[in-house]
Amino acid sequence: MGEQAGRRRPGPLAGLLVAVVVAAGCMGGGLDPGDPQGEPRQPRQPASPGAPTTRADGTTSVAEFKQDFNDAVGIAEQYWTEQFRASGERFQPIRRVVPYTRSGEVSCGGQGLPRNNAVYCSAGDFIAYDVNWSVSAFRQIGDAFLFYLLGHEYAHGVQVRLGIRYNFTIQQELQADCMAGAYIGDNVRAKVLTLDKGDLDEFRDGLLAVGDDPNQPWFAEGSHGTAEQRSDSFFRGYENSLDACGLG
Ligand SMILES: [Zn+2]
Repeated sequence: MGEQAGRRRPGPLAGLLVAVVVAAGCMGGGLDPGDPQGEPRQPRQPASPGAPTTRADGTTSVAEFKQDFNDAVGIAEQYWTEQFRASGERFQPIRRVVPYTRSGEVSCGGQGLPRNNAVYCSAGDFIAYDVNWSVSAFRQIGDAFLFYLLGHEYAHGVQVRLGIRYNFTIQQELQADCMAGAYIGDNVRAKVLTLDKGDLDEFRDGLLAVGDDPNQPWFAEGSHGTAEQRSDSFFRGYENSLDACGLG
């Protein structure tokens, strides 16, 4: 990515480009950017203004997960709105977030989404996630997982808005992991989000543990990066914020 020379204190998102439609799917096969028609439109959930400090603690049920996930969405909207504003741009939040339980229940560009995954669909500008799979991954990986999952998918929507499109999926994915890390780290530093001391260690260990589990294709080695690469990208963003993610 280009240097930001010659600009005095550019925002982290200097170099905004016109958004292009691209499917930044997290699924192995990827998704074709399809015709957005057929996607039901719903009014976007408003971000919770002045949300109180959100604590990543002990979510165990599907209902709790959905609630906490929506909180994470509100924090992401606020976060990216601020980042774009710092670059003199207006952020358009991702239109909606859709939990699903059955294969094909939600489709992106005419293609049904399989179980055991989460995806950002550029064709309809929405995030969809298999809620049962997400809860079980959450239980394995720990408290930080929910914010990681949302942060990662949300980052794909931001990449589209910034016109970022790498040649290789892995670059797109690892950058999204870095952006997810920045989203969490910056919100922890701003005291919007509180993580327990051990949460991130638990998270790192959890990611490594599930890296080659065939039932967790989202983390499988291959085009998305090994669990270790993903973890490294995440923590680079977590510790150093967006400057570490090559957006400029
Ligand atoms: Zn992804």
